[in-house]
Amino acid sequence: MPAVRDAGTEHSYFQVIDCRGRAVLPGFIDAHLHLTAMAHYHGGVDLGPDAGVLSLGDLQRCIREQARKTPDGAWIRGNGYNEFYLAEKRHPTRRDLDAASPRHPVKITHRSGHAHVLNSRALELVGISLHSEEPPGGLIDRELPSGEPSGLLFEMGSTLARLIPDPEEQALMRGVEKANQQLLSLGITSLQDATAGNGLEQWHAMGKWLEQGRLRSRVSMMLGWEGFQAVKRENRDALEKSGRIKIRGLKIILDQSRGGFFPGQDELDAMVLEAHRAEWPVAIHAVEAETVASACDSLEKALAESPRQGHGHRIEHCSQCPPALARRLAGLGVMVVTQPAFFWAHGERYLQTIDRDDQQWLYPLRTLLESGVKVAGSSDAPLAPLAPLAGVQAAVTRLERNGQSVNSREKIGLRQALNLYARAGALAIGEGSRRGALAPGMLADLVVLDQDPFAVPVEAIQDIKVDTTIIGGEVVWQA
Ligand SMILES: [Zn+2]
Repeated sequence: MPAVRDAGTEHSYFQVIDCRGRAVLPGFIDAHLHLTAMAHYHGGVDLGPDAGVLSLGDLQRCIREQARKTPDGAWIRGNGYNEFYLAEKRHPTRRDLDAASPRHPVKITHRSGHAHVLNSRALELVGISLHSEEPPGGLIDRELPSGEPSGLLFEMGSTLARLIPDPEEQALMRGVEKANQQLLSLGITSLQDATAGNGLEQWHAMGKWLEQGRLRSRVSMMLGWEGFQAVKRENRDALEKSGRIKIRGLKIILDQSRGGFFPGQDELDAMVLEAHRAEWPVAIHAVEAETVASACDSLEKALAESPRQGHGHRIEHCSQCPPALARRLAGLGVMVVTQPAFFWAHGERYLQTIDRDDQQWLYPLRTLLESGVKVAGSSDAPLAPLAPLAGVQAAVTRLERNGQSVNSREKIGLRQALNLYARAGALAIGEGSRRGALAPGMLADLVVLDQDPFAVPVEAIQDIKVDTTIIGGEVVWQA
């Protein structure tokens, strides 16, 4: 650990930190994550493979442990289960959860957020039964031949959110504090919340967490369409002055999963144009090449109508991007904010489920950079590992967690990979002039690492630990 000693004269006070030759880097910048979801995640039971849940037995053990600490009748929430990494290769059912805790209502959430499993007590409390009909877009999985719900519910998150009480404030605050510890221990000094559901309510809530010191990293956020409209009705400058969080753009989710695009091209064009005219950067979630192209269409039209340098528009994820599309993004000056740790965490599934042709342009970091696109890294936590160094390792090695290679032609260099979370991250969040580099005039946000990333084997980059995290010259975390 670096030695910290107080020093100074009677007129000035400063600390001398002897890093003993260790690597000092700009603090990591995570340009796309979901803070409230992280707080909820940490407020509940972690059921992901990284928490050691690799079978239904492990999952039941975690719920049983939580049940022991939870008063009868109170909700137990679990997060991040992934049937792909369970030995049984299937979703849990109400029966599995009943066996772990029949007396508490239990709700567990799939790592994608698109599926939930409720035990019998929970199904009873929310009133989902043999006779229930699916809400639009939702699916209640059934046991055969009885037709009783199996407990597994698809695309019913918003329905459940209305029926299940929010976690108690206390549990949520515990989650915020855990998220904060995790952020600082991984050296993340700046982050941007990219939640499409963000509005003024979330802006106030997160501002309060910062004010209370529960959250220490620098935070900015995007708002969804309704939040954007609400801020447009108010004075944005005055609003920002009154709070702790910069509002940095509009988030739009462009979805292709329900057959056709949602929103459709005309609607997307109109949304993008309205935000562009208001000088808001637009961040469009686009995964498939077709949706990325549709996003480009809208951005191109808006920029043709009122050309502007430094517009700050971004594509989030950009998971599939052939070279011609990459060149188009470069021409428009649109940044890509992507998640290299996805192919470490989910690479095995990609290799099994995506056809070979499409794999060729899966997260094509090298192609994007060579085409002149500015690319920033991020985690999308809690949907993928938060650690920036896990993202760096994935970008450099293209290896998934079991060691299989995911499109190795798209490897990038270590310096480029670190840059995704430094300089490029700062540009993506609109802070290029103040963050992301160790240079005079920049904010003193830094990390001290226990090993030099350039001196360890590339497969060991994510094992490097953060020794010290410094924000604005203040040591906020030490190992
Ligand atoms: Zn996201």
